[in-house]
Amino acid sequence: MLKEAEQKIRNISNFPKEGIEFKDITPLLKDAKAFHDVIDALAQKFSSEKIDYVVAIESRGYLLGAPLAYKLGAGLVVVRKPGKLPAAVERVEYALEYGTDVLEIHKDAIEQGKRVLIIDDLLATGGTVAAACELVNRLGGKIVSAAFLIELSSLNGRQKLSSVAEVYSLFTY
Ligand code: AMP
Repeated sequence: MLKEAEQKIRNISNFPKEGIEFKDITPLLKDAKAFHDVIDALAQKFSSEKIDYVVAIESRGYLLGAPLAYKLGAGLVVVRKPGKLPAAVERVEYALEYGTDVLEIHKDAIEQGKRVLIIDDLLATGGTVAAACELVNRLGGKIVSAAFLIELSSLNGRQKLSSVAEVYSLFTY
């Protein structure tokens, strides 16, 4: 059943730049059964973990995080690019291949000890999710796991996250 969903992920070569093989999940999202199956599979994996908050990373993480939170009976917390959140924020800068990027979370988004599941569409080097973990840790949340639709194992994101979060991915390449 998940095999069919996996087949809906489309590879686009040289996007957004030369040498990148982009995993396009839009064909999966528009297929009602595939979308349903991947959300159900993620929800089933974490259904007994008493998740308080699903923390979703802008922007493709939102597409999975919102239905997953709903299904788990958890709240949804958004991690955003800089300058988008209106109230007081916690902010982290992290390294990219070239330069740096910033992620923010509302300071009051997570209370001490709450059980958190972090979600994004894809794990590559792990830099993005490591930054989101840093934000959750600063607020005192307890990271149960970081979950992904897709893991690109050759980029060693799982190792980078080994001291920070357990990693779960539905499809590994
Ligand atoms: P990283 O911080 O290196 O783990 O990169 C993860 C972030 O970049 C995720 O939010 C992904 O959406 C995006 N990303 C990185 N590589 C790809 C790829 N090959 N295809 C699609 N999205 C990617």
